Amino acid sequence: EDTPVIGRKRVLLAAPRGYCAGVDRAVIAVEKALDHYGSPVYVRKQIVHNIHVVTELEKRGAIFVDEVDEVPTGSTIVFSAHGVAPTVVQGAADRGLHAIDATCPLVTKVHREAVRFARDDFEILLIGHEGHEEVEGTAGEAPEHITLVTSPDAVATIEVKDPDKVVWLSQTTLSVDETMETVRRLRERFPNLQDPPSDDICYATQNRQVAIKKVARDSDLVIVVGSANSSNSVRLVEVALEHGAKAAYRVDYASELKQEWFDGVRTVGVTSGASVPEELVDEVLGLLAGAGYGDVEEVKTAEEDLIFSLPKELRRDLNGNT
Ligand code: SF4
Repeated sequence: EDTPVIGRKRVLLAAPRGYCAGVDRAVIAVEKALDHYGSPVYVRKQIVHNIHVVTELEKRGAIFVDEVDEVPTGSTIVFSAHGVAPTVVQGAADRGLHAIDATCPLVTKVHREAVRFARDDFEILLIGHEGHEEVEGTAGEAPEHITLVTSPDAVATIEVKDPDKVVWLSQTTLSVDETMETVRRLRERFPNLQDPPSDDICYATQNRQVAIKKVARDSDLVIVVGSANSSNSVRLVEVALEHGAKAAYRVDYASELKQEWFDGVRTVGVTSGASVPEELVDEVLGLLAGAGYGDVEEVKTAEEDLIFSLPKELRRDLNGNT
């Protein structure tokens, strides 16, 4: 027997959610590249970490590859929003590829910081997830100078050459709270640790975490729409659980919602990661409405109006300049 739901069923819809400026730009870049150069357009790695976005672009003629050596000479290749190491840029040039760099400008900012601190002979403690494309790209800017710090607990075993010449940088899509804990522990070990010149965790990651915290404390269940390899989406599940949600699940599609999650649930919180198109959220809301959760209240904690201009190589080609 299902536990009866006491009181009015409702949905709290977090805002901001979904597409950030960097994802929007990267997806439009591939679409415009397909329109302008014709298919196929090659894309190194998933343009953004969302299965639906990748599938839709594949239907339109994008071909996703892992490395540039899979791409026929002379073709157009788009680098994903997560950024690439300089060796990848060089590899594409060596193959005679026409490269369009859709790296998010906020990732490029972290790359520049890495280059600058490496030039000044700092040891860079890069907080991030092992194997994530963004971390590989950033670390590739200064491999000799960068040590990856994967969690607060990993701090205990970090070794540095000169504790007075260390700086921390981070991946853009981490949990803000966990990263601050990692930094606190790093500073305990290395009191002269320098901070990055500005936040590396991007505005979109921060805003989505602030919104879901507010939603989570009033929610019995939180649904995060996003893909399993989307770092910021997975963080939203963790943040929801840490901030009062009794349960939280990530789904790619509405069809993955499970009946048993709703047992005794009055308030459902809903959000989506920075790579998630709003139509996927609408499908979740549609299914929830069918299950009696049709009363939707938006919980808004910030306004976002940032827009990035398209990658410069693409702008130049679209303007017809050679
Ligand atoms: Fe850029 Fe942040 Fe979006 Fe990543 S999540 S693409 S860093 S704005």
